[in-house]
Amino acid sequence: MIVGAGVAGVQTAVALREQGWTGAITLLGAEPHQPYDRPPLSKAVLLGKSEGSAFEVDFDSLGIDLRLGREVTGLRPEERVLDTADGPEPYDRLVIATGAEPVVLPGTEGIPGVHLLRTLDDATRLRPVLADQHDVVVVGAGWIGAEFATAAREAGCKVTVVEAADRPLAGALPAEVAAHMVGWYADCGAELLTGARVVSLSEGAVLLDDGTRLTAGAVVVGIGARPSTDWLAGTGIELAADRSVVTDERLRTSLPDIYAVGDCASFPSARYAERLLVHHWDNALQGPRTVAANIVRGEAEGPLYDPVPYFWSEQFGRFVQYAGHHAAADELLWRGDPATAAWSVCWLRQGVLVALLAVGRPRDLAQGRKLIERGARLDQRQAADPSVPLKSATV
Ligand SMILES: Cc1cc2nc3c(=O)[nH]c(=O)nc-3n(C[C@H](O)[C@H](O)[C@H](O)COP(=O)(O)OP(=O)(O)OC[C@H]3O[C@@H](n4cnc5c(N)ncnc54)[C@H](O)[C@@H]3O)c2cc1C
Repeated sequence: MIVGAGVAGVQTAVALREQGWTGAITLLGAEPHQPYDRPPLSKAVLLGKSEGSAFEVDFDSLGIDLRLGREVTGLRPEERVLDTADGPEPYDRLVIATGAEPVVLPGTEGIPGVHLLRTLDDATRLRPVLADQHDVVVVGAGWIGAEFATAAREAGCKVTVVEAADRPLAGALPAEVAAHMVGWYADCGAELLTGARVVSLSEGAVLLDDGTRLTAGAVVVGIGARPSTDWLAGTGIELAADRSVVTDERLRTSLPDIYAVGDCASFPSARYAERLLVHHWDNALQGPRTVAANIVRGEAEGPLYDPVPYFWSEQFGRFVQYAGHHAAADELLWRGDPATAAWSVCWLRQGVLVALLAVGRPRDLAQGRKLIERGARLDQRQAADPSVPLKSATV
């Protein structure tokens, strides 16, 4: 029984069949739509260049019982039963893949013209906003805010992005790196207001803490996401302070025969010596293979999950990619001039490459990711020279 029919849930079902699971597989998804991928929602789908991004998976031929529009509301682990509006569903093994939901600005739910961007329905509601070239205020200069601003500018909207921190991507990147992204907003004709807090939202207007009143045909709130795990409260399953389902290194939860994977789950990374909650697509693609292998092998324990996290973002005409995981104390090493269209930054821990951000340098990313996996030590002088392939800049 798999709960959540996003990429992690669907891939778990597929991986179970690929790895030889012959038992029944049921996939319960709350959304009414054929399971689909989210990354295109803030890109081609918004602009009407693509109708959607349904997965090309033949559920019937794989023997996967896909049930859509089925929200799971509770778990009774003692009885091995899930609760849904249509009644209880028994399970032998359970995989929790309920993903994440956008953080809502308090008091803004239900205000007309205030949008979130997580689901196909959200993107469908936002399409006419772009097509009609409304003035848009985006709250939050994170990954989603930047991608939405990019699409809205491409559609010809006037765009103002309001960010409470002093820079974009404040939660993800250090100030000296993010500083080089500030200009991207202006270059594409979007206004970025940093250090600006929203005090109230109403239909057509956004009030900031310095008294500024912005008028808006639409407001898009992109201030982060949190694991969709409210339905697990009080069930006895261990949840972390960030609300993620706590798993071990095999993505097993604190309860027997229950696994968790994707945006809803955190796992202990031996590689980075900390628990990671990764809200990116690649994690929701890779984790399911580990879950499936452990379910199929049963008592003979399966593989451990300790990936080099990876994600990409398409924003302001740039392809931004990141691999690994860095901490504030890690040393920064620049590769190329961040004033240009293509540059990278490496993070080193005692000379070893632990993370890399590549802007318009996909080769750096591909090579860097492998070096991170191997724990390679960089020759810092060579690595700082963007004409030297990163894979050759090791000691
Ligand atoms: C607009 C957008 C753009 C993105 N772009 C990128 C990108 O460019 N690069 C990148 O690396 N990542 C990107 N991401 C992140 C990536 O899409 C997510 O990491 C990925 O979707 C996580 O997959 P998941 O299956 O864990 O969760 P989800 O995709 O959230 O799927 C979970 C599913 O479970 C369902 N569900 C929740 N609760 C219940 C319940 N109680 N019962 C039944 N079903 C339930 C939900 O309705 C949902 O369909 C983007 C995300 C968004 C929203």
